[in-house]
Amino acid sequence: MTEKLFRDVEYNYKYINERIAEAAEKSGRKREDITFLAATKTVDPTVINHAISLGLDHIGENRVQELLSKYEAYDLSNCSLQFIGHLQTNKVRQIVDKVDLIQSVDSIKLAREISNQSIKRAKKTDILVEVNIGREENKSGVFEENLEELLCQIAELEGVSVKGLMTIPPICENEHKISKYFYNMHKLFIDISEKKLDNVSMSILSMGMSSDFYEAIIEGANMVRIGSALFGARNYT
Ligand SMILES: *Cc1c(COP(=O)(O)O)cnc(C)c1O
Repeated sequence: MTEKLFRDVEYNYKYINERIAEAAEKSGRKREDITFLAATKTVDPTVINHAISLGLDHIGENRVQELLSKYEAYDLSNCSLQFIGHLQTNKVRQIVDKVDLIQSVDSIKLAREISNQSIKRAKKTDILVEVNIGREENKSGVFEENLEELLCQIAELEGVSVKGLMTIPPICENEHKISKYFYNMHKLFIDISEKKLDNVSMSILSMGMSSDFYEAIIEGANMVRIGSALFGARNYT
């Protein structure tokens, strides 16, 4: 059983890397310019570590409890652990010393708590600001018209360092539509970069998942977050 799963992960890992390389080349970049982060929710650490042994060097969890329960089991000697899900302010202190990057910051309140908890531990935490590019109700992320103001507020905080932007676009029925969201997101990323805001670095643009990472890279993503295409369909039971 595990043996079969390991083989599937090997096959998928290789295939995804080829597709990433293809899209990178098509958009005038190289494979190394794109970070492949595996979204590891519901995946057993044994399977995650197998992917890491193949060369995977970025993983992301999106629930605090799950991250904590798996933390001791990950082989992180050559792998960055990141937080990619919605983060409640009162849970920040549980993960701030365990992750290299928090991708899902969308309020000054959350950024301030990450900063305070980081200062307590004499560290600075890298973050991405999440943008709600599809303007969906009930979805995390800041609207684009509020992004610059939020970035300027966060830039004042001593304990965090903004490294870029992340988004989860709306579910779309066709790739043309999804590409438009990725295009708009990349445009926003470039516009903000060109403003050269103090203490704000725009080096990471995290967008694209299993079904649309190719399109995301074509439009300018330099980090993709891939779960089911690597590990198979999630089993939540
Ligand atoms: C689960 C998850 C992904 C990956 O989703 P797949 O469709 O399985 O590739 C990417 N980003 C976030 C924030 C996630 O929670």
